[in-house]
Amino acid sequence: MTSNEIKALTGQYIMNTYGRFPVAIDHGRGATLYDPEGNAYIDFTSGIGVCDLGYGNEAWVDAITAQAKKLGHVSNLFYTEPAARLAETLCKRTGESCVFFANGGGEANEGMIKLARKYSFDKYGKGRAAIITLNNSFHGRTITTLTATGQEVFHNYFFPFTEGFRYADANDLASLEAAAGDDVCAVMVELVQGEGGVLPLDRDYVQAVAKLCEERDWLLLVDEVQTGVGRTGSLFAFQQYGVLPDVVSFAKGIAGGLPMSGILANEKCRNVLGPGTHATTFGANPVCAAAGLAVQETLTDAFLEEVKAKGDYLRQGIEALDLPCFGKTRGLGLMIGIEVREGFNKGEIANKLIENGLLVLTAGPGMRLLPPLVITREEMDRGLAIMKEALA
Ligand SMILES: *Cc1c(COP(=O)(O)O)cnc(C)c1O
Repeated sequence: MTSNEIKALTGQYIMNTYGRFPVAIDHGRGATLYDPEGNAYIDFTSGIGVCDLGYGNEAWVDAITAQAKKLGHVSNLFYTEPAARLAETLCKRTGESCVFFANGGGEANEGMIKLARKYSFDKYGKGRAAIITLNNSFHGRTITTLTATGQEVFHNYFFPFTEGFRYADANDLASLEAAAGDDVCAVMVELVQGEGGVLPLDRDYVQAVAKLCEERDWLLLVDEVQTGVGRTGSLFAFQQYGVLPDVVSFAKGIAGGLPMSGILANEKCRNVLGPGTHATTFGANPVCAAAGLAVQETLTDAFLEEVKAKGDYLRQGIEALDLPCFGKTRGLGLMIGIEVREGFNKGEIANKLIENGLLVLTAGPGMRLLPPLVITREEMDRGLAIMKEALA
């Protein structure tokens, strides 16, 4: 099919819930994507932080193919090797104790919220179920994770929302204290707010929050759906913040492009969700887990160091272009935000870049770049050249 045929068929038969860019994608190699007509696009999006190994990665394709030939799905009523091995790897590399596997970020966060509430219920009984989240956060699209999301624009249409969420300002301990109370069981944060605009939390603030959680027996819940799996230059961002969360959620990049998510819990929380309290049919799918193992094998410590170096390279490259529309860059590793100067429109900039062969994202008030972690210097240079041509 041609791009236009695909767009027309989509318009007719797929529910119109996405503001799509006017491009159909057919296939990819490395960090380059191609439309059905063969036009190339440098990809600074990774399918929104998902395709960390890029496109057509041989180890990933081989792992999926081999596992699909053996066993595609069997349910959690039985044991399978790929999930057990992936859970072992994640625990050994993070210091966490155990994993629950799910399918998407919102669903993982639901599990994290259920765990926090049950931890508190088991220990203190009813009436201690409130969770403090941060203004400008994003935690998902289910009714409960929409409520957890600290942005008023998400609290519309779908009433009644889940009760029991309160909001505090990021990097402001006094604001957190003001939201505290006897009914609180947990604090939930993104260490770098992604959808909110690539805004990293301060290290001192995060450590102070962790200390407060310990003193009050609140669980520290960290949403690493976007920051996790190497994106920030460490396997999880919390490893750069010097804290060990009680529960961490992950999704996007975990299986390099197949749908998978989950939560990691520490020793204190390993038995909170016992048999019958939580489940999901597709969770721990063996093909997704095999893909996840291929991702883990690629993300060595040396590879993660390279992610940091590539992030620095790209940010310096962007700032050196000194474009009229762009201000400062910010972020961690290959999770990069670019300030858009007043008088310029982030959506128009994104469209202009895409027309010229560079795929980018927007977030909050500015641009957001989430390139595949395997992106080469040559691909980054090509992307920078397109920025210069299109925006100078
Ligand atoms: C993307 C995202 C989610 C939601 O993940 P889905 O897979 O779309 O449900 C939740 N939290 C954060 C931080 C995210 O970036």
